[in-house]
Amino acid sequence: MELKVGDTYECPEGHKAKIVWIREDGKVIGVRCPRQHLSKVVKVADHTKAALPYRQNPRKERKIYVENMVFLIKI
Ligand SMILES: [Zn+2]
Repeated sequence: MELKVGDTYECPEGHKAKIVWIREDGKVIGVRCPRQHLSKVVKVADHTKAALPYRQNPRKERKIYVENMVFLIKI
């Protein structure tokens, strides 16, 4: 089956994504997934307790999600 730009293809997490790019030799494709993916977890200052001195400021984790991430997949 030949793939082409615009076709539906599964992203690495199993969502329905769309092929947006195909390498010339057809062995690598780029798929853009409209679903949210966890990008990274960062530590941020917890501003709900900002009254404390800076050094004692509690840190909390914030998860960063991105939509429309493009994955390169070897096929
Ligand atoms: Zn996905």
